[in-house]
Amino acid sequence: MTGSDPSQFEVRPHPNPRSEAERGAILANPGFGRDFTDHMVTIRYTEGKGWHSAEVGPFGPLSLSPATAVLHYAQEIFEGMKAYHRADGRIGLFRAEENAARFQRSAERMAMPQLPTELFLGSLRALIDIDRAWVPEGEDTSLYLRPFMFASEEFLGVRPAMEFTYCVIASPAGAYFKSGPKPVSLWVSHEYTRAAPGGTGAAKCGGNYATSLRPQAEALEHGCEQVVFLDAVHRRYVDELGGMNMFFVYEKDKTVVTPPLGTILAGITRDAIFTLARDAGYEVVERLYDIDEWRADAESGDLTEAFACGTAAVITPVGVVRDKDHEFSAGTGEAGPLTKRIRQNLLDIQHGKVADPYGWTSVVD
Ligand SMILES: *Cc1c(COP(=O)(O)O)cnc(C)c1O
Repeated sequence: MTGSDPSQFEVRPHPNPRSEAERGAILANPGFGRDFTDHMVTIRYTEGKGWHSAEVGPFGPLSLSPATAVLHYAQEIFEGMKAYHRADGRIGLFRAEENAARFQRSAERMAMPQLPTELFLGSLRALIDIDRAWVPEGEDTSLYLRPFMFASEEFLGVRPAMEFTYCVIASPAGAYFKSGPKPVSLWVSHEYTRAAPGGTGAAKCGGNYATSLRPQAEALEHGCEQVVFLDAVHRRYVDELGGMNMFFVYEKDKTVVTPPLGTILAGITRDAIFTLARDAGYEVVERLYDIDEWRADAESGDLTEAFACGTAAVITPVGVVRDKDHEFSAGTGEAGPLTKRIRQNLLDIQHGKVADPYGWTSVVD
């Protein structure tokens, strides 16, 4: 990986890091997003001065004025990626430059300054460098990295802030599915949408997640694990889940269908699946996909598999799909053969277990 020299970050080691035993207990059963490593990165931005004060310091609370702009107007963006313990013993990243580029696109949409790619990559390296003992070694485990940026100016006026804070925190992540991928059930939200044309659907911003929580709660009330959103204009074309992109597999003509970019988030997993599906002999078709088409093709058996994808859960088969009038499930309702094959292929590349012909992986040390 090319990245800025971590030495340009001032390093303030944690005076009192967790003991090896404490860390070992966490790494033995990491869960997701619950425990954090001993350190964090912060970089400041000030209008007129640019990016400055890059440091790696102890993980701990931020001190903010109650008038901090983000608390009122939600000028905030984030990324989600993983560091992997590779088969060769080194620590690897997957397409980190893509996360850097997406972070810049999200910043653009939210009237925030763009963090240069080198600084973004350097911040990951600096944190992994000091907290490398926190990268778990188990099957399908990883260190989840969460870069984020928010308006840290103390000001209540409505305009883009003039001060921002960028941070990276990291959390060891266990295998999302303990015994292989388990199908997720979906609730079709007819009442709520996540993004309209011209809105912020393509930006990875906290606000998109805030508005997904009520529909997500509705999914749970109806016995479903996740919500699937339809487009905001016609209220019939599949957008995506709260934080995962959707794919539909038609074995009879060897095609894989996925909704086009626009109001959805451009997933890096989604993009990798394009390549892996093509290499598996499937044609990838980006087109509008009607919820009625999904149901009809699931019922007729033409639709053989459906799956969702994203960094956190990698690839998740979709089981039951429900709304107030209907319930159906694609294929057998279990992980289908292409779902399993692409998932394994991706995990093996990410963990450096097989050759990476696509140049997607990089090593940190
Ligand atoms: C992050 C995210 C995804 C998945 O993107 P990946 O790059 O594959 O992790 C999908 N949808 C939304 C809304 C997201 O925020």
